[in-house]
Amino acid sequence: MNDYITREIIRFVDEYQQSAGPGTSWDEPLVGFADARDPRFASLHRAVSPTHALPEHLLDGARSVVAYFIPFEKAVAAGNSGSYHASRKWALAYIETNRLITDINAHLSALLEHRGARTAVVPPTHNFDEERLMSDWSHRHVAWIAGLGTFGLHNLLITARGCCGRLGSFVTDAVCTPSVRPVFEYCLFKSKGTCGACVKNCVTGALKEDSFDRHRCYGLLLENAELFENEGLADVCGKCTCGVPCSFAIPGTTRDRDRV
Ligand code: SF4
Ligand code: SF4
Repeated sequence: MNDYITREIIRFVDEYQQSAGPGTSWDEPLVGFADARDPRFASLHRAVSPTHALPEHLLDGARSVVAYFIPFEKAVAAGNSGSYHASRKWALAYIETNRLITDINAHLSALLEHRGARTAVVPPTHNFDEERLMSDWSHRHVAWIAGLGTFGLHNLLITARGCCGRLGSFVTDAVCTPSVRPVFEYCLFKSKGTCGACVKNCVTGALKEDSFDRHRCYGLLLENAELFENEGLADVCGKCTCGVPCSFAIPGTTRDRDRV
């Protein structure tokens, strides 16, 4: 089942970007799997939000959780450095990738239903409490449980293809084999106390080595949303993920070839 789902997600993204619609280009997605009964899901009550859902809250009889990372191509990030507001390309990539994730989930749901399995999907974003800015289904944390990467100092997941991209996930009662999880910290600050490029890139000062002011960060996301309101909903920034050693690879590894 793992190979089937992985193949379908990769194929879907490939065909999607060959269609006339999106202006964004994506690299090949990464797909990870978790056992729906993994005790780490229960720990998200503390780590993320007291109301964070468990897989069985989304789907009665849930057996597996599938998470995937869709990396942006380098050109998407290239123009998002060196200015206060997000670039138009970055904002469009966010909007188009959210649409892509919705379509992937619908496609996989239909395929799995055809094979006798049920799924439950969560929207790619805007499923959070606007006062606490906490999500009841954090795709980042779900992807972490599914072995897709480790958290960076910038609070985002660093995958084998970096952090410039978007995450999606869904719950199913199909039985999948849990992925092997990373055995070391990918973030250079967490592993060696070095780097800190994301903190230097943060244009609002919300991100510091020892703290994160999510409300200050969200203020800029809303400014960008207003700036690009004619394109769709793009409450984005991403300065802390662009032009840093973990943008497109695990920093310090042989895949560290795609820095912008
Ligand atoms: S930019 Fe450096 S410190 Fe920040 S998350 Fe990436 S590797 Fe860690
Ligand atoms: S998204 Fe922007 S404001 Fe928020 S932490 Fe990253 S660089 Fe700072």
